[in-house]
Amino acid sequence: MKEIVLKASVKSSVFVGEGAFHRCVPALLKGQKNFLLTDSNVYELYGGLISSVFGNTPLYVLPAGEENKNFSELGNILTAMTEAGLLRTSCLFAMGGGVVGDIGGLAAGLYMRGIRCVQIPTTVLAQVDSSVGGKTAIDMNNIKNVVGMFYQPQTVVVDPLFLRTLPVRELKCGLGEIVKYAALSAEIYKEVLKHIDNLFDLSFLEEITKLCIDHKANVVRKDERETGLRKSLNMGHTLGHALELYDKKLSHGEYVLIGLWYETCVAQAMGLCKQEYGDTLKALARKVVGGIPAVTEAAIGGARMDKKNESAGTVTFIAPISKGIFDTVKLPYEEYVSRILEAAKEAEC
Ligand code: ADP
Ligand code: ZN
Repeated sequence: MKEIVLKASVKSSVFVGEGAFHRCVPALLKGQKNFLLTDSNVYELYGGLISSVFGNTPLYVLPAGEENKNFSELGNILTAMTEAGLLRTSCLFAMGGGVVGDIGGLAAGLYMRGIRCVQIPTTVLAQVDSSVGGKTAIDMNNIKNVVGMFYQPQTVVVDPLFLRTLPVRELKCGLGEIVKYAALSAEIYKEVLKHIDNLFDLSFLEEITKLCIDHKANVVRKDERETGLRKSLNMGHTLGHALELYDKKLSHGEYVLIGLWYETCVAQAMGLCKQEYGDTLKALARKVVGGIPAVTEAAIGGARMDKKNESAGTVTFIAPISKGIFDTVKLPYEEYVSRILEAAKEAEC
């Protein structure tokens, strides 16, 4: 087990590796009132483990699914927290995927203006990305993560124990973010290419998770509130989010990879990204998704609304340049669309 310390506005510790859950959680439960938030799938799979470690800690079981990351469920969680008699000194444990982490982190941040929060991510996506860095949110009015706050967890406990029960779709989803990290860090790029034929192996996922968290912790330490460097973690997400919004058939991570594939094509065509390097990244994205679909102008439309955009009528995305090097690119919306559509011609071949 490895400890990664993230010193942002407050200090958070991330414990990563086999055995982290059993070594850390009992100690973290001592000395205060606690509350557990999990979801119905995780509770069904790990109910025995939960009762053996959490005993009679009051809990709220959120129905599984992104559609429950909403204001009404946030209210239910906060109500259950008041009913449990939680105090300023209490601690909320959020055990589950990104949905539980996002809404649980927000509930912890709101209750009595903020109580301690321990994140126990149980999906690859939550382990490599969403549980670290203090972003919390719910969706509203069909807009993802539109209501939320930066609220750092006191501790994050990342244990590969939970990955064994994940369906392949969830592994692919997490690999989307891992390939994104490979495009941001030369070290992660090297490791991913070394394991190109066993990307879905749990032993690889466990090791790469440590490197991804290390990378993210370094970025968040320098730019907690995403005014600069942290935006790089949105590589692939400008187009990825637009496609995800338009057509919800694939997982978030797969859309990120499709976005990364297209935006790498654009960066190559603009002469920004080294050809061979870009081709390797694109092959990696294609390998994980299994095929890059051709996109239409209507599907690209959401990129106009991306949070990174600095002015109306322009689109901003993070372009890969060469190993470990990336840059922010700003294009007029029409040019962005025509360049993506140009790339679509080589998508399905
Ligand atoms: P994310 O992919 O953002 O982490 P969710 O929180 O919705 O999103 O988790 C994805 C799905 O995986 C949910 O249906 C959740 O209940 C389920 N899940 C979470 N952890 C596990 C696990 N360890 N094993 C199996 N299913 C899990
Ligand atoms: Zn993402």
